[in-house]
Amino acid sequence: MNNKVINVAVDGPAGAGKSSVSRLAAKALGFVYVDTGALYRAVGVNALRKNVDTRDKQAVAATLGDVSVDLVFEDGEQKVLLNGEDVSKEIRTPPASMAASDVSAVPEVRAFLFDLQRDIAKRTNCIMDGRDIGTVVLPDAQVKIFLTASPEERAKRRCLELEQKGTPQKYEDVLAEINERDYNDSHREIAPLKPAEDSVLVDTSFLTIEEAVASIINTVKEKTADEI
Ligand code: C5P
Repeated sequence: MNNKVINVAVDGPAGAGKSSVSRLAAKALGFVYVDTGALYRAVGVNALRKNVDTRDKQAVAATLGDVSVDLVFEDGEQKVLLNGEDVSKEIRTPPASMAASDVSAVPEVRAFLFDLQRDIAKRTNCIMDGRDIGTVVLPDAQVKIFLTASPEERAKRRCLELEQKGTPQKYEDVLAEINERDYNDSHREIAPLKPAEDSVLVDTSFLTIEEAVASIINTVKEKTADEI
């Protein structure tokens, strides 16, 4: 046992189960769960509120001058603040998802959010999920997981989630949106979605949430046996 901070990077495509699995694994391990997608979503919401075309990289970069984005943690739950306002709900709408995917391809946006993510990881044992955590943000993380699942399975899960929220959408539309975001995320020039070389691949297509969580916890324990 020593005082070294433990960082677990979880990357993967939209809908692979990163947030549910990371949240539960973090809880079981007593770590903080950090959802970095929320930061890109907040920048996207800010651009939408300003009526900026989110595909216009220069216009998006110009929105960063007078904006503040922050994460706060209360009772183990993360809240995302946009200029001090809690936008944790607003960032979950479909337009916010597409806006997040667009703004995340802007280098200035990635640079803007980089230090915030690094600073959180430096201070605390955490499971941080995103697209480039193991490759760019925390290349020295002790544990790196690449969590994935087939696009069809991810679309099915997303449909169920939307139905439970009372905002159902057609399977075909959800699948198309997932494919579009996958394409955007893995083909962008900066920090494209790809597994870190030293990551452990976990395919959740045929796993229950509990099985996926157990797989993450076991990997963390194995890789950090002399640290926790
Ligand atoms: O994970 P989530 O779906 O909330 O992420 C929203 C968008 O933010 C993704 O489509 C992705 O383009 C972007 N993102 C990213 N890098 C991260 C986290 C999210 O580019 N570390």
